[in-house]
Amino acid sequence: MSRPLRIGFGRIAQETNAFSVVATTVADFGTTHLLEGAELLEVCEAKGTEVPGFTKAAELSGFVTAAREQRDVEPVPLFSAWAIPGGPLTADCLAELTERLVLSIRAAGPLDGLLLSMHGAMGAEGSDDPEADVMAAVRAEVGPDLPIGVTLDLHAQLGARFVDATTFLAGYRTNPHRDHHKVGLRAGCILIRAARGEVELTTAWRSLPLVLGGGTTIDFLPTMRPIYRWMRRVEKDPRVLYLSLFNAHLWCDSDHLGWASHVVTDGDPALAERLADELAQRLWDVRHRQPPSFPTASETIRQVRGAWLRRKLGTVCVCDASDIVGAGAAGENTRLLKALLEEAQGLRCYAPIRDAETVRHLWDVEVGQRFDTSVGGRLDPQLNAPTPIRGRVLGRREHTTFGPMMWVDLDHVSLVITSGPPLAMRPSFYGELGLNPWRADLVVVKSMFPFRWYFLPHNRKTIYTRTEGVTDFDHGLRRSFAAPVHPKDPVQDWRPTDRLRRGLPRHR
Ligand SMILES: [Zn+2]
Repeated sequence: MSRPLRIGFGRIAQETNAFSVVATTVADFGTTHLLEGAELLEVCEAKGTEVPGFTKAAELSGFVTAAREQRDVEPVPLFSAWAIPGGPLTADCLAELTERLVLSIRAAGPLDGLLLSMHGAMGAEGSDDPEADVMAAVRAEVGPDLPIGVTLDLHAQLGARFVDATTFLAGYRTNPHRDHHKVGLRAGCILIRAARGEVELTTAWRSLPLVLGGGTTIDFLPTMRPIYRWMRRVEKDPRVLYLSLFNAHLWCDSDHLGWASHVVTDGDPALAERLADELAQRLWDVRHRQPPSFPTASETIRQVRGAWLRRKLGTVCVCDASDIVGAGAAGENTRLLKALLEEAQGLRCYAPIRDAETVRHLWDVEVGQRFDTSVGGRLDPQLNAPTPIRGRVLGRREHTTFGPMMWVDLDHVSLVITSGPPLAMRPSFYGELGLNPWRADLVVVKSMFPFRWYFLPHNRKTIYTRTEGVTDFDHGLRRSFAAPVHPKDPVQDWRPTDRLRRGLPRHR
């Protein structure tokens, strides 16, 4: 019998908001997910939990599942780092993570393939495409021929230097994202077949001068649903191994930001080109469907008041669209809290805010005791200012991800104050503190899409509210790009920009 295939797996992933002033360090990865070797393998096995508090089984668990289904594949754990969305990585952080990944590959010995999980919209100080830097270092370590499969978030940003260093890509196919495991599993199966020589991977991609479109971009709503359905239909052809579309992360610092398509076929480059082209055109065709504009905090509170039956049957989820921690904002914007305190009397509201200083200040106040202080608006004074709060302490705890946190009673508002980024995305963010979402009229979330999935049982109405901050759509558009992009500029044809971005001559 021949020796088993040895396939390495690892990750460097964070979604970065280029407009956040709060830099991301190795410590931020350490509080979420920073593992290597046997420990990494253990959390990715069927019984493990890949990222505690976030997901039991993500892409790397999916890959390990694919490997375990085969008798002749040894999954070789490398190095894996994942952090909550935030500001750009410091240059030191990028260098350290890259070095640890490369050293883990070197230490692993001969490999037959490599599966990496990346976000695709990670930013770092001093680099215009840090993921391309990571991939270049990995490629230099393993040589030009080793098959490397990379799983990516739906909001990945494709650039030529990055794509050229990979063998194939596999993106999420759901928004809100809920297919991490499946994507890892499918990518793992393709990689294993390629490592065995059963398939010959051929790929093609396109990059569109389109940064915002597709309506809400939710996969099961009418604008995008037909595109995903078409992708599934095309993949029934055994020559077609994987189709990806990418919706771009509007707050990614790339001059070449844009939606993209990517196709993997088995030994048929012409088919890959044709499908990548057709998918790109389908994406271009929904460019005029812009996302709806969001109401102000005051208007949002009025709408919640009016939704009395929905409040009775469950709760109303209010997404603070300008301060989405899940898209890299700091989570310390005080504008919505201020409006809730002043205008939402009689509504039971749950809200999060980040303020390590206030947590320290209140830490020794006994539960039940009253206090008078201010909260939020400290990390980015350009954006907003601390707001005064008065109330009673309800509880405190040390949280592995959010750091020391306190929750306080401000009359009709129950406020959760965290030291780290308050990724309020799941009902358990409040439920674990005894704040039962069923009892709330209004629950503030700091997540763009995933909360819609997790809050499905409780949520009777979703309102995105605009309070002005780094995750506003216009904040992402208020900058320069290398070429005209839709919807900022009028663009007639996507093809010239695509060819330029892929490093091809302007005309065939
Ligand atoms: Zn995403």
